[in-house]
Amino acid sequence: MTVTHQNFVAGAWSAGTDASVNTNPSDLSDVVGEYERGDARQVATAVEAAKEAAVAWGLSSIQDRSDVLDRIGSTLIARSQEFGTTLSREEGKVLRDGVGEVVRAGRIFKFFAGEALRTAGQKLPSVRAGVEVEVSREPLGVVGVITPWNFPFAIPAWKIAPALAFGNTVIFKPADLVPGSAWELANLLVESGLPAGVFNLVMGRGSVVGEAIITNPDVAAISFTGSLETGHHVAQVAVERMAKVQLEMGGKNPLVILDDADLNVAVECAYQGSFEQTGQRCTASSRVIVTSGLHDRFVEALAERLARATIDDALDPDTDIGPVVDASQMDQDLRYIDIGVHEGARLAYGGRVLERAKRGHYLEPALFVNASNDMRIAREEIFGPVASVIRVSDYDEALAVANDTPFGLAAGIVTTSLKHAAHFRRASQAGMVMVNLPTAGVDYHVPFGGRKGSSYGPREQGSYAAEFYTTVKTAYIRP
Ligand code: NAD
Repeated sequence: MTVTHQNFVAGAWSAGTDASVNTNPSDLSDVVGEYERGDARQVATAVEAAKEAAVAWGLSSIQDRSDVLDRIGSTLIARSQEFGTTLSREEGKVLRDGVGEVVRAGRIFKFFAGEALRTAGQKLPSVRAGVEVEVSREPLGVVGVITPWNFPFAIPAWKIAPALAFGNTVIFKPADLVPGSAWELANLLVESGLPAGVFNLVMGRGSVVGEAIITNPDVAAISFTGSLETGHHVAQVAVERMAKVQLEMGGKNPLVILDDADLNVAVECAYQGSFEQTGQRCTASSRVIVTSGLHDRFVEALAERLARATIDDALDPDTDIGPVVDASQMDQDLRYIDIGVHEGARLAYGGRVLERAKRGHYLEPALFVNASNDMRIAREEIFGPVASVIRVSDYDEALAVANDTPFGLAAGIVTTSLKHAAHFRRASQAGMVMVNLPTAGVDYHVPFGGRKGSSYGPREQGSYAAEFYTTVKTAYIRP
C-alpha cells in the first residue's frame, strides 16, 4: 500500500485535496512516493496558526532557537546519505552531489544556530542631551518560503533556518517536482519539537498554494527562488500589498577564458560550471567567452572532456552527469538546441537524447560554437546541459560581452593575469565573481545573490540574511 505523505499545518499532519506521484527521472518506472497537494483553505489555516505562534516564538529565548536549529543541522549531516538518496532519486543530480547538498543544508542550519545568538543591535548617544538611542532587530512575523526544484534541500534550508533563527514563523511551499526532499526536511523540523504553528509545510501547485501564500495579508514577507516570470508575478503581488519580498531568479552566467589561461583549469571550470548537475543550476555558466588565441584548443579539449563523461542513472556511482529533471525541461532543452542550430551556431558536441538501461530523461551535454551574444541561446536561460562558446578578440571585448545580459548572478574568469583578474572582479556586473573557479559552487556562510534581472531585494545567506528576516526598531529613551 502506498503511503501518501501529508502536509503539516497548525501542528498536525493533514491531507490535501489530491496527491502528486513523484517519479525518478533516472528510472521512470520508479515511483519515489505520493505527496498531498494543498489548497487555499489549507494555506489560510497554516497562516492563521503561524500568525498566532509568531508572538511567543518571536519572544522565545535565543538559546532555545539556537539549540533547535543546531539539532536539525546535526541530524541532516548524520542522515545525509539517506536524505541525499531521496534528493538524487527525485531530482536526478548524482548521489555525491545529493549527499553533499544535504550536508550543506545541515551546515546552514548550524550556521544560523550561531546567528540566532548574534542578533546584535546598536546603542548610540542621541543628538539631544540626556537621551539615548537604541537600534534593535525584531522578527517580521509570518514568512512565506517558496522554492524551486533544483536544490531541494539547500535552498529551503537557507530560507527556513534564518527565518526561524530570527524569530519568524514559516509557511514552506516547495516545488511540485521535489516534494520528497521537502517532506523529509519538514519531518525533521516537526520532530525537532518546534511549537505548533511555528513551521508549516504546504505542498502543491504554485498557481494554487503559492498564490494563496503570496496574496495572504498576514504573510509579512516572501522569500522566493525560481524563474524570472514567476518572480515578477510574486513581486507585483507583494508590492501591491506592501509585503517584504526577496527574489532569486535566473542567470545567463558568463565564463571568460583568456589566451593566458591554464588550459586544464579552463576546461575543468567550463565542464563543471556548465554541465555538472545537468546544467540545472542558476549559477551555471551557459556562455563561455573565449579569446581567439586559445579558442580552438579550448573547444577541442572541452569536447574531449565531455566525451569522457558518463551520463546515466544518478544513483550509479560511476555516473558523472544525471538525467534532465522531467519531460517538460527536456522539451525546453531540445527546443533551445534546435533554436541554436537555426540561429547559425554549430553543435561542436552532443545534444542528442540518449537511451540507457533504465528509461529516463537522458540528454547528451550540448556544446555550441560560433555563437554570438545576440542569439537567443546566449540571452535566454535554458536551464539544461547546453552551453555556447562565444569567440572574442581580447579582454575588453570579453568583458563587454560578459556584461551584455539582462541577468547578473555569477560571472567567472580564467586567466593567469593578475591585472585582468582584478579588473574583471571590479567591472563585472554580477553579484558573485569567480577567478579561476567555476561560476557554480558557492560557500554557505557568505552572501548569495545577483544584480539586474537575477535578484531583487536583500541578499540571502551569511550574516547578510538578517537584512531580510528582521525589521529594525529605533528606540529613543530619556532615562
Ligand atoms: P518556477 O518559477 O517555476 O517555480 C518556483 C516556485 O514558485 C515553485 O515552488 C512554484 O510552484 C512556485 N510558483 C509557481 N507559480 C506561482 C505563483 N503564481 N505564486 C507563487 N508561487 C508560484 O521555477 P522552477 O522551475 O522551480 O526553478 C527553476 C528556476 O529557478 C530557474 O529559472 C533558476 O534559474 C531559478 N533558480 C534561481 C536560483 C537563484 O538563487 N538565483 C537558485 C535556483 C534556481
